Order: sequence, then structure tokens, then C-alpha cells
Amino acid sequence: MSRPSHDHPTTTPSGRPRRSVPGSGLAKGLAVTLRTMTRKTVTEQYPDAQPALPPRSRGVIGLFEENCTVCMLCARECPDWCIYIDSHKETVPAAAPGGRERSRNVLDRFAIDFSLCMYCGICIEVCPFDALFWSPEFEYAETDIRDLTHERDKLREWMWTVPAPPALDPGAEEPKEIAAARKAAEKLAAARAEPTEPTDPQEGAS
Ligand code: SF4
Ligand code: SF4
Repeated sequence: MSRPSHDHPTTTPSGRPRRSVPGSGLAKGLAVTLRTMTRKTVTEQYPDAQPALPPRSRGVIGLFEENCTVCMLCARECPDWCIYIDSHKETVPAAAPGGRERSRNVLDRFAIDFSLCMYCGICIEVCPFDALFWSPEFEYAETDIRDLTHERDKLREWMWTVPAPPALDPGAEEPKEIAAARKAAEKLAAARAEPTEPTDPQEGAS
């Protein structure tokens, strides 16, 4: 059952059918068309024009595999179970004679299935070694769903599209790594600047 419209009642308050002026509907329609034609367009003409996305948009995930220690935290925390990691252990010989051998994880496979990913960002948040980053790139649609599983090399390639981190606030604390490097450089410079004690010529004769 259709509801009576309250905007344009078809009857007068006395109950008689309301007469419409001939052509008024057409005039109203044309007025709407003219109003819309003169308004600023808000539609983005993608793909002819690229949308202006915020730099931190969640487009795709990049892997900086040099930082990955294969701790598996991202794969364990992913709610969709769409991160696949394979690795093996390798023995690293002792650095000095008498030292102990160490074992380390070597990454064999790192893949993310973007057909399952829900872009929650949990993997990026939990990675303790800064190996995962958001990239604003979003043009990776595929005709075959299997191609939406991006393997390690492809994830590494996305790293080139990750924007640089924003500058620190002027009053922000210095990052720990930079503070440590600066202190070490200052110590070295101070040690070099210290005058060396003159050697006593008599010392060798006695
Ligand atoms: S963004 Fe979320 S769903 Fe996608 S891989 Fe990371 S943790 Fe999984
Ligand atoms: S949490 Fe980070 S370091 Fe650990 S496996 Fe995932 S990407 Fe690698």
C-alpha cells in the first residue's frame, strides 16, 4: 500500500481534488536540472582523475622484510588469518673462538591475502620490529581472486609507496636511537679533542 505524500497533497483541505497547473511538473524538473548544472561538481572522475586521498590512507600493506624477525606475532593476531608465514632455523657460527653458536629464523614465505584482509591494521600495530606499513596505493584489483594474495616480493615493492613519517613536533622528545647515536658521537668527539699528555724525556733514560 502506498502512503499519501504530505509534501504535495493531491486534495485540498476541504477534500476536493487539487488541480495542478499544466506544465508545472516540467517547469519544476527543469528548475532542478538548472540548479544542479550550476552547482560545483563533487563527483571524482576516476580513473581519469585520481582521488585526493589522505597520505595515511589504508590502501595496501608493505613489508620491510629486512626488519622482520619472523616472530609470527602479526600472523597470530590477524583476525582473518590471512597472513601466511613460513620460515626455517639457521645456525650462525660463533663470532669469536670459544663463543656460542646462535640460531636465527630465516624467512621463506610472507604473504597477505587481500581478498580476506579487512584492513583493520592490527598486524601493523602489533609488529614489534616496524616491518609492516600502510601504503595509500589502492589500484591492485584483479580479475582472479587468487592474485590478491601478495607474496613477499610484491609486499616489499609496496614499501616504495609508503609515505615518509611526519616530522616530529618541535617540543617532542628526541627518538631513543637518535639520542643514543648523538651521545656516542659527542663522546667520541670529546675524546679526540682531549690534549694528549706530553711524554717525559727522562722517563726512558732512568
Ligand atoms: S589489516 Fe587486519 S585483517 Fe588485514 S592482514 Fe592485517 S591484521 Fe589481518
Ligand atoms: S610481527 Fe613483524 S617481525 Fe613479527 S613476523 Fe610479523 S612482520 Fe615479521
